[in-house]
Amino acid sequence: MKILVLNCGSSSVKYQLFRMADESILAKGFVDQIGMDNSVLEHQAAGREKINFKVEMPDHFSAIRAVLETLIDPNYGVVRDLWEIRAVGHRIVHGGPNFSNSVLVDDKVVAELRRIIELAPLHNPAAIMGIEACHKQMPNVPMVVVFDTAFHRGMPPRNYLYGVPYKYYEKYSVRRYGFHGTSHRYVGMRAADMLGKPYEEAKTISCHLGNGASLCAIDGGRVLDTSMGFTPLAGLLMGTRCGDLDPAVVYYLMKKENLDAEGINNLLNKQSGLLGLSGVSNDIRPVTAAALAGNPRAMMAISVFVRQILHYIGAYYLELGGADSIVFTAGIGENSSLIRKKVCSQLAVIGAALDEEANLNACGETVISLPDSKVKIFVIPTNEELVIARDTLEIVYEKNMGLDRFF
Ligand code: ADP
Repeated sequence: MKILVLNCGSSSVKYQLFRMADESILAKGFVDQIGMDNSVLEHQAAGREKINFKVEMPDHFSAIRAVLETLIDPNYGVVRDLWEIRAVGHRIVHGGPNFSNSVLVDDKVVAELRRIIELAPLHNPAAIMGIEACHKQMPNVPMVVVFDTAFHRGMPPRNYLYGVPYKYYEKYSVRRYGFHGTSHRYVGMRAADMLGKPYEEAKTISCHLGNGASLCAIDGGRVLDTSMGFTPLAGLLMGTRCGDLDPAVVYYLMKKENLDAEGINNLLNKQSGLLGLSGVSNDIRPVTAAALAGNPRAMMAISVFVRQILHYIGAYYLELGGADSIVFTAGIGENSSLIRKKVCSQLAVIGAALDEEANLNACGETVISLPDSKVKIFVIPTNEELVIARDTLEIVYEKNMGLDRFF
């Protein structure tokens, strides 16, 4: 069974085609700059050279057509016919208040995705376009949607309610949702495996540190708490996002800088975080290089980032009543031994002891704590696409589907 996983952004589509028998990736790639003059498709079939083409892609429909044509191309494709692709899994950033699991796509699901566009105006419209484009071009192929928010739906109300009038929770679903759920779920399961403990018994603090970054406290396979909130702007400072701040800063800056809602949204989402503090970059590599060369703002940006990670690790350790493991994942978590070292050097108080050499040499799934460390520390490369493919397979099988029941 072959399953296509799609991640549709506002001007991009990323894809991976899986052969589920051995969970191998047959091909992967992405389309960038949809709707602009210089759209590019990058494609890599397993074991072959990466290729790039310029393709005219005015919209998501033509982008997905280009992806599908590439997958069946006699020269660089990996399937003979589209019928070989038996299901499509879509990544959806925001599932709103009602989706607590991945689900099969039907009219009702699409209607709900439309209803909650307001909660994720940048992300969900692209995903809906992706679903519609696939439906038109592969009309009988079942589709499943997998939400970044779904894993967090089990949080207790004390962790998802904000201190604003309750009527806004009831009226507008204003609450903490949490994001990166697919990633936290994956590394949480892998951490339990690495511990040799049943997933249902493991207490894990997952640190997803990429351009977007969030921490998550997982207790026996259920999310207890997470750092992102109503939107992915909350929690840690990120590449360009501000993370947690006193909400009064928002209207103070609006007044002082004469900004409207869009202006302040742009400032907090696109000009803040590592970029805004360091003035160097949103990317941690140049920021680290500048800090090592003595740039004081870059040093400060890294200190703030590390302090915020520690803040959440401390909170989650208490909330969980201890932890079996702390996991580092995503671009920074998997690759920056320096950030891991800075964080872990302050964890002796909770009984987590870093193995400095293992940390420096970590590659793939690695235990980076010392053998007698009470709390284990792991580096676990995340794999959100695989989780999406697995959910898709499970739901398609579970529903034992007739092929004509969509739309
Ligand atoms: P996202 O998926 O949220 O866009 P990623 O998970 O790709 O983000 O993470 C991007 C971050 O990872 C960037 O800050 C980048 O500098 C960092 N990163 C990637 N590779 C390395 C590396 N080898 N060393 C240090 N940081 C890295």
